[in-house]
Amino acid sequence: MKARFNGKCVECGEEIKTGKEIVKNSKEKWVHKACSDVEEKLP
Ligand SMILES: [Zn+2]
Repeated sequence: MKARFNGKCVECGEEIKTGKEIVKNSKEKWVHKACSDVEEKLP
């Protein structure tokens, strides 16, 4: 999903800006889509 507020990525430590694509990692923390350690499920 797209970030609706500014935050911080726990994986890379960089800012998550509003509008960026973000996902929850295995620890239920919001991270950049590229930083996630959860594999996307393919259809
Ligand atoms: Zn990140």
